[in-house]
Amino acid sequence: MMPKDPVTPLTAGQRRCPICDKPSVPRHQPFCSQRCADIDLGRWLKESYRVPTDEPPEDPSGDTEREPE
Ligand SMILES: [Zn+2]
Repeated sequence: MMPKDPVTPLTAGQRRCPICDKPSVPRHQPFCSQRCADIDLGRWLKESYRVPTDEPPEDPSGDTEREPE
C-alpha cells in the first residue's frame, strides 16, 4: 500500500526533490512536482549538448606511449 498523501512529511527512505529539496511525491519521483521534473529535464538536455571533455584531446604530433605487450 503506497501512501498518496501529497503533503506527507518526509519519511525514512523517502527521497528529496533534487531541484528544490522538498519531499518527492510518488507521481513525480524523484521530484516533488512536474515543474521540477521539467527543470531537471531541461538541465539534462543542456548538459547533453555540451559534452564534458575530461579526457585530454589526442595530440597527433605527440608520441603516444604504448603499453608493452
Ligand atoms: Zn521540487
